[in-house]
Amino acid sequence: MEEASNIEFAEDNYESVLSNLASLITYIDQESIHEVWHVSTIEQNKEHFVVVYGNANHLCTCMYLVTRGIVCRHFFSVMLASNKAIFHVGLIPN
Ligand SMILES: [Zn+2]
Repeated sequence: MEEASNIEFAEDNYESVLSNLASLITYIDQESIHEVWHVSTIEQNKEHFVVVYGNANHLCTCMYLVTRGIVCRHFFSVMLASNKAIFHVGLIPN
């Protein structure tokens, strides 16, 4: 994921998060996208998008998974918000 590390992901405002989302989606085969979740964190007033795609894969506009190799709390929020989403993602064959 060397390409991803060269990209600056600004988190300052909603519009930059939207453009992050647009950048993020260019990494993914768009036909494999199942769901896009909008996640906002109350304490920091920041917003992120979590894209659920492929066979139970996901990417988030915070890019923790790419830059730090950890699953971010935004994705955990999505899991908590929708068991159905994870259930159906898990069921979709390649
Ligand atoms: Zn995240």
